[in-house]
Amino acid sequence: MSQDTQASEMTDGFHLVIDALKLNGIDTIFGLPGIPITDLTRKAQAEGMRVISFRHEQHAGNAAAAAGFLTAKPGICLTVSAPGFLNGLTALANATTNCFPMILISGSSEREVVDLQQGDYEEMDQLAIAKPLCKAAFRVLHAQDIGVGVARAIRSALSGRPGGVYLDLPAKLFSQTMPAEAGQRSLIKVVEPAPRQLPAPESVARALDLLRTAKRPLILLGKGAAYARADEAVRALVETSGIPYLPMSMAKGLLPDTHELSASAARSYVLAEADVVLLVGARLNWLLSHGKGKTWGADKGAKQFIQIDIAPTEIDSNVAIAAPLIGDIGSCVAALVQGMGSSWPKAPADWVGGIADRKDKNQTKMAATLAANPSPMNFHSALRAVRDIVKAHPDAVLVNEGANTLDFTRSIVDMYKPRKRLDVGTWGIMGIGMGFSVAAAVVTGQPVIAIEGDSAFGFSGMEVETICRYNLPVCVVVFNNNGVYRGTDVNMSGGTDVAPTVFVKGARYEMMMQAFGGVGVVAHTPDELHAAMAEAIASGRPTLINAIIDETAGTESGRITSLNPTAGKK
Ligand code: ADP
Repeated sequence: MSQDTQASEMTDGFHLVIDALKLNGIDTIFGLPGIPITDLTRKAQAEGMRVISFRHEQHAGNAAAAAGFLTAKPGICLTVSAPGFLNGLTALANATTNCFPMILISGSSEREVVDLQQGDYEEMDQLAIAKPLCKAAFRVLHAQDIGVGVARAIRSALSGRPGGVYLDLPAKLFSQTMPAEAGQRSLIKVVEPAPRQLPAPESVARALDLLRTAKRPLILLGKGAAYARADEAVRALVETSGIPYLPMSMAKGLLPDTHELSASAARSYVLAEADVVLLVGARLNWLLSHGKGKTWGADKGAKQFIQIDIAPTEIDSNVAIAAPLIGDIGSCVAALVQGMGSSWPKAPADWVGGIADRKDKNQTKMAATLAANPSPMNFHSALRAVRDIVKAHPDAVLVNEGANTLDFTRSIVDMYKPRKRLDVGTWGIMGIGMGFSVAAAVVTGQPVIAIEGDSAFGFSGMEVETICRYNLPVCVVVFNNNGVYRGTDVNMSGGTDVAPTVFVKGARYEMMMQAFGGVGVVAHTPDELHAAMAEAIASGRPTLINAIIDETAGTESGRITSLNPTAGKK
C-alpha cells in the first residue's frame, strides 16, 4: 500500500468534527480563528461549510444564537481557548436565557496541564466555568467520541426547552487520527432531536373548560410560540376562538400586527381587565410584571391562567397556573383548536368591541404624534420612516436594541410575518445588534434592518467590518442623540469630564461603514431617512445611516425607569 493510500484511509479530529456537524445538517459556523481552532475554520471552509469570522467572539456567539432561533437548528459559535471562550460565554448564557438553541465550541488547553494548574497557554477549566451558564456541557477527549459529543450537544440544544450547550475540544483532539471508515461509523445522525410532545387529554379539557367560561379572555404569545413554528395553528386558535391576543416583542408578526384581534394598542387595558389569560410560549417574568400587581389589575379581582409550555417546571413560577398544558406548542394549540370544534362560541362581543374602541382611540393619538415633524427629528418622527419601510418590505428582518430606541420601535413599527423581529430578549441585553444582523442576513438571505440606539450600537459596532467583508444586505440605522438615554446630562461635580451618559457630540457613525467600503449616510429628516433606507434595501449594500435625533429626546432607562434606583434624580 502506498503512503498516499494509507493517508487517505485515515481521518483526524478536525475532519470528524466537520463531518459530524455536516451529517446533522449544520452548514454554517460563526467564530473567530486562533489557537487551537484556526485550522478547523480553514478545513471547514474547504469542506464546503460557510465560516463567518467575526472581530469579537461575543458577536459570533450572538450570531449563533440568532441563527438557532431563526433556523431551529443549533447555531454554532467556534472560539479559541480561555479569553475567546469567555467572550463567547455571554452569548451562550444569553441564548440559554432566551431558549435559543446554540452550541459554543471552544478549543481548550491540555487537560493534564490544566488540571495540575501548571500554567498552560490560555489555561482555564472551561468546562467547569461553562456548566452553570448553559443547558449542558460536554468535553471530548478521543477522536472516536466526537460523533457522540456532537450528537449529545445537538440533542441537548434542541430537545425540550431549547438552549445553549458548551462543547469543549482540547487542542490535542484535532490531530488525533483514526481509520476513516471507523471514523465515519462513529458519527451519529441525530434522529428527531425535538420530537412532538403531546399534551395530556385531561389537561386540554381543563384548559378548554376555563376558556369556555371566560368573559374577558386574552391570548399572550411569546417568542416560544414564534420559535415553535406553529404559525397556522396559532392563527387558527385566535380566529376560531375570536380571542384578542397580545404578542411579546419577538412574537410580533406571528400574526400580522394589523390583525383585527391584536390588542397591542390596548395593552395596559387588556392586561388589567382580562379574566382568563392563555400564555403560549411566554414566561411570567419581569417583562410581564411577574403576572402580578397593578399591571395585571390586582385590584379588579383574581385572574386565571392557562399556560402552554414545553418545560413543566415553568408552571407556577410566579403565580398559580389554573390549567397547565405541557407539550410542544404546535401539538398543544392544535389540541385546543380541535377541542373547540366548529361550534365554539366566539369571545364575548362587548369585550372584543371595548378593546377595538380603545385601540382606535390610542392609534388616533399615536398617528398625530407620528405625523409631527420636529427638527431635529425625535424618536417618533424617525420611526415613522422606519415603519413605512418595514411595511413595504415585510420579509426584511428587523433587529432592534437600545433603551428608548427599543421601546419606541417595538410599539411603533408593525411586523407582518413570523420570526422577523430579533431584539434584546429576556435579559434586555445590549450588544446583540451586529451579531444578530449578520446571522439574519446569512441564514435568511433577506435584507436586514438594524434599528440601534447610539449606545447599544457601540457594543458591537466593530462588526460593521464583518458586514462589509461578507457584503451583507444590512442597513444599520443609528439613532444618534449623543448619549445613553439622552445627550444632555451634565457632570454634577462641575468638573471637565462629560457626564457618564454623554458621548462625543455630533459623532460621525456613518464613517465607520465608509471606512470598510460600505455606504454611510447622514439623515436629518424622516424623508432623508426613508430615502436612505429604501436605497439601502434596493442596493443590498452594507449601509449605516446616522439618524440625527434631538439630544433632549428620550427618557431615563426608557420604559424600565422603575428598575433604576433613583432614575437620575439629583
Ligand atoms: P417572551 O420573552 O416572548 O415572553 P419567553 O422567552 O419568556 O418568551 O418564553 C418562551 C417559553 O417558550 C419558554 O418558557 C420555553 O420553555 C417555551 N418554549 C420554547 N419552545 C417551545 C415549544 N416548541 N413548545 C412549547 N414551549 C416552548
